[in-house]
Amino acid sequence: MSASVPALFRRFAVALAVFLTVTVAAFAAHAQSKVQDVRVGVHQGFTRFVLELDAAAPYRLLTLRDPYRVVIDLPEVAWETGDESAGSLTKGVIGKFRFGLFQHGVSRFVIDLREPALIKSHFRLDPEPGAGHRLVLDLQPGTDQQFATAMGSVESDDWASRQSGVAATARAQQQAMIRAPVRPSEQAETRLKTIVIDAGHGGVDPGAIGASGIYEKKITLAFAMDLRDRLQALGQYRVLMTRDRDIYIPLRKRYEVAHQNEADLFISIHADAHHTPDLRGFSVYTLSETASDKEAAALAAKENKSDILAGYDLSEYDDQTSFILLDLAQRKTSESSWQFAQSLVKNVGSNVKLLRRPHRFAGFAVLKSPTVPSVLVELGYLSNRREEKDLRTPAYRASLADSIIRAIDVYFEHQERLSRS
Ligand SMILES: [Zn+2]
Repeated sequence: MSASVPALFRRFAVALAVFLTVTVAAFAAHAQSKVQDVRVGVHQGFTRFVLELDAAAPYRLLTLRDPYRVVIDLPEVAWETGDESAGSLTKGVIGKFRFGLFQHGVSRFVIDLREPALIKSHFRLDPEPGAGHRLVLDLQPGTDQQFATAMGSVESDDWASRQSGVAATARAQQQAMIRAPVRPSEQAETRLKTIVIDAGHGGVDPGAIGASGIYEKKITLAFAMDLRDRLQALGQYRVLMTRDRDIYIPLRKRYEVAHQNEADLFISIHADAHHTPDLRGFSVYTLSETASDKEAAALAAKENKSDILAGYDLSEYDDQTSFILLDLAQRKTSESSWQFAQSLVKNVGSNVKLLRRPHRFAGFAVLKSPTVPSVLVELGYLSNRREEKDLRTPAYRASLADSIIRAIDVYFEHQERLSRS
């Protein structure tokens, strides 16, 4: 008895699904392991950093320069520190810190150093009365030269075995996200337009912090999901997300999702914070080598810091996708991005308050797809109490999402007319 090829394939698919389910379940079980406390102590000649957990966990340490950072990677863990995932310790060589999901299966803790410092030692301690499992890092001040020489990664001996399984799961999940559902019809005239919605920030990168303490990454995700659901309900668009949970995604991976799915539109969702608490209003940004104004340039610089905040090793980027501006495809894309931005200003502006000069441009890294028209929207200012409250209100978000959908409809109708004329 020989099984037919499709039957074999089905068996393989079932086996793979079972494998993935079991693997994912294994990590989900591990995700219950919790970080319970973070402590810093200043000692003679070194700063001690302690991460306390309810179970021993493998770890990897990474040091990065520009600015000086120490990164601690752990298997996916829960944080018993509540909702907050960023703060400041400012003791010894340690300044600010952030933590959160770095990728599927990997939680990350990023420490900003106030000066170059070397990892003098790192070890785990077993629980004892009054203290749980601890991961200890001793950091010793050094020179820039010493920091550069010592730069790299070290890991506990049990990290590799744990991570090989995690990597397989992460790859499978990444693939599942990137290779999204097949188009309902491949025929050109009935092909649904594909829209990629990018919820800004996430995981180890909290984004801006609001007047009452809410993180931008939460608002952007809530809004992106609302927008996705409302768009999908229309049945006229194929809608994909770059993230649908609290996880960090490198900037380049975000527009690669749009690229690989041959998207027709990419919308990156953000909400800004400003030192002037009165400032409020919706604004939209498109890509340009020269910025429209100083504020737009500063905003782009801030948004482009996401990878640095997350401790993403920028050398992991390969050069093959570093796009060059100014070629023909890019010019057409940039015209379309401009059109969509104008449609947003018109349609959103009839509904909510706009920022002064609401369409601006600058060198946003996330908008660099050469073929997919892309915009970045700042829904409003979280530093403004009223707008922060609005953005936390589902009814307000729904109404704002609907005006963005009107802008999308108008934009595609316009593109359609252009292609026919
Ligand atoms: Zn942002």
